[in-house]
Amino acid sequence: MNFIETRGNDGEHPLNVSFSAAILSPIASFGGIYVPESLPDLGLDFLKQQLNSDYKTLAKSVLGAFEIDIDEAVIDEALSLYDKFDDPSNPVPLVKVKDDLYVSELYHGVTRAFKDMALQPFGVVLSALAKKRNENYLIMAATSGDTGPAALETFKNRDHVQVACLYPDGGTSDVQRLQMVTEDAKNLKVIGIHGDFDDAQSALKRLLASTTFKAKLKEKNIHLSAANSVNFGRIIFQIIYHIHSYLELVRQHAIDLGDKVYLNVPSGNFGNALGGYYAIKMGLPVEKIIIASNNNNVLTQLIQSGKYDIRDKSVIPTSSPAMDILKSSNVERILYDLFGAERTKDLMLQLDNDHYYELSSDELAQLQQVFIADYCNDDEAKQYIKDSFAKGYLMDPHTATCFKAYDTCRDKPLKTIAYSTAEWTKFSPTIANALTGENDTSDIDALESIAREANIQIPDMIKGLFDKEIAHKTIIDKQDIEKEILAFL
Ligand SMILES: *Cc1c(COP(=O)(O)O)cnc(C)c1O
Repeated sequence: MNFIETRGNDGEHPLNVSFSAAILSPIASFGGIYVPESLPDLGLDFLKQQLNSDYKTLAKSVLGAFEIDIDEAVIDEALSLYDKFDDPSNPVPLVKVKDDLYVSELYHGVTRAFKDMALQPFGVVLSALAKKRNENYLIMAATSGDTGPAALETFKNRDHVQVACLYPDGGTSDVQRLQMVTEDAKNLKVIGIHGDFDDAQSALKRLLASTTFKAKLKEKNIHLSAANSVNFGRIIFQIIYHIHSYLELVRQHAIDLGDKVYLNVPSGNFGNALGGYYAIKMGLPVEKIIIASNNNNVLTQLIQSGKYDIRDKSVIPTSSPAMDILKSSNVERILYDLFGAERTKDLMLQLDNDHYYELSSDELAQLQQVFIADYCNDDEAKQYIKDSFAKGYLMDPHTATCFKAYDTCRDKPLKTIAYSTAEWTKFSPTIANALTGENDTSDIDALESIAREANIQIPDMIKGLFDKEIAHKTIIDKQDIEKEILAFL
């Protein structure tokens, strides 16, 4: 299968590229990104065949249908990383919470957030490709908290890859920061920045676009790449768990094969939601995808009104920081799929230049065929965490946004799969506050009070972080990042 460009072709990039080329250099003509030329049609027969498959078997069949240019041995190694999840026989458990609501828990991997679902196997694939081509890559990441730990964890000690990870000093939770700064390996550099996530992200973008930086890397024989979710190498692994969760509903006798369900996704960069969209196009029976946001509700606005409007907006810090995003990168792939390359280029240019675009009423109707949306503020999220805990289910603030959207968005009484994207351990001060009313200033206090309240143990891998040696102590100003990275290389 080949990959083509969301904003059309500029005459310099190739007209189409292989999967491996699309993941090694993910930016296409006119600043666009890559999408599959077509999607495999799996249909109900495929679902029937896979009904009793375990996660890895299903994953292999789905990846197989894409006919990507990755050796089978590499795919096997990549998928074997799901064996490190809590339950290797079922890395993504589906839990019934109430009435029609089932939660698919995507956080049972090494860093306790759903980024592991895609970044774990992606790390193996990317490093194998670099090795095969005998090339060296610098992977850059800017993180508000979950991508950094997952990227470091997947690339540590891998051949032909070095990672430079930028985080805002003081802008992540204690657990997230410790997950990064205690990750000791020769090929990893973790840098705290004086500033917020936007500062880290814009510093990263400047470096990715800088010709002098690239020239200096070239002297050292190093290519530059990024591990954010515009990389299709991450998206492909995010189609699988939607199919798995549906089959799990069938296995639990909650639905019959072929029945429609809602998918309910807490969204930021829209990678998770895009995986669901592609699963539908490949034949998964879904009524609609419910998009949940926090107070940064650009996606709710887009899906309800057709307007993508960030003219007078700046990011609002919330208790679900992984969704504190204004420019949601993967919406572009939906625009392409619905309206084609020419219109996508036009809309994305408007967004860059005017910070605004508006869909026509026909276009909006097409979008609303698939998506429905609502957002949840921090107080509401806290209330959902509290109420749900009282009924026996402990969840994090990102997952809580789905619970509100479940209440407000469904217009049919269909079974609903909500995705839980982080374990309680990653956002403990908010959760402790929801459960007990107390205001903990540090994660360790909050973790202990949740553990007491819920009568559960703090997992060893989280508790251990607080005693580990700090391997990365660099905290610098933005303008010193380039120098620091070059010194590391
Ligand atoms: C990254 C992240 C999200 C948002 O996922 P997208 O695929 O970017 O929409 C939601 N919740 C958590 C905990 C995350 O880490």
